[in-house]
Amino acid sequence: MKLCSLRSGSTGNAVLVSTETTHILIDCGISGKAAESGLCELGCCGDRLDAILITHEHSDHIGGVGVLSRRYNLPIYANQKTWDAMEGALGKIKPEHKRIFAACDPFFIGDIAVHPFPIPHDAADPVGYSFVSDGKKVSVATDIGILEESLFRAVKGSGAILLEANHDPNLLDIGSYPLPLKQRIRGEKGHLSNEDAGHAVKFLAKMGTSQFLLGHLSHENNYPLLAQQTVVNILKEAGLEPDKDLSLSVAPRDSVSCILTV
Ligand SMILES: [Zn+2]
Ligand SMILES: [Zn+2]
Repeated sequence: MKLCSLRSGSTGNAVLVSTETTHILIDCGISGKAAESGLCELGCCGDRLDAILITHEHSDHIGGVGVLSRRYNLPIYANQKTWDAMEGALGKIKPEHKRIFAACDPFFIGDIAVHPFPIPHDAADPVGYSFVSDGKKVSVATDIGILEESLFRAVKGSGAILLEANHDPNLLDIGSYPLPLKQRIRGEKGHLSNEDAGHAVKFLAKMGTSQFLLGHLSHENNYPLLAQQTVVNILKEAGLEPDKDLSLSVAPRDSVSCILTV
């Protein structure tokens, strides 16, 4: 199974999870054009996709969903509350493309078992996803306010994970965002900081995950080297050797990431 980000950041997100026969796009908060070029670059042009899964209705996750669904005849999977919150923003969607999954019940798309799990974020009913195929597991976990044990339980056993490292708290403090927005980002339904990501990587590495892709970096309050170095410092303090014990990279904002294979 392969996990790769097409684009990642507070300005737009799309993630591809693939096996030999099944190709799933998680969110599409980028233009149809950017999604198509990213997919083709990864050898999975839009007509090879099987479905689009939605984590939550914020525009950085759904901006290109309607276009892609119409262009490639793709079903869209989301829970009921997310459908209620996003449907008006997608444009016309064929009734048969509207797929609703119940709470956190797993379901299959091709040879991939999809396991949604709840995340603390200020959206209608936001979820992260784990994907299991042929005994391998990968997970996507971004837009998370605080680290809870339920998150670790949900992603446990993943060989690879895309994990949020949204902001540096100091850059957020001194930056130009209005106070209510700063409070929202820092809040329990906001976004994970680089430090939060570092602690999560540390725990997950000790639980056996070996490949990490940091993503959903803030355009204003973070930059890739800072995110990576903050996580590396926390790992080293815990006696872990990045590059030896695990692989760690940052998903770029405007281009495809490296491909994580499990
Ligand atoms: Zn969000
Ligand atoms: Zn987001």
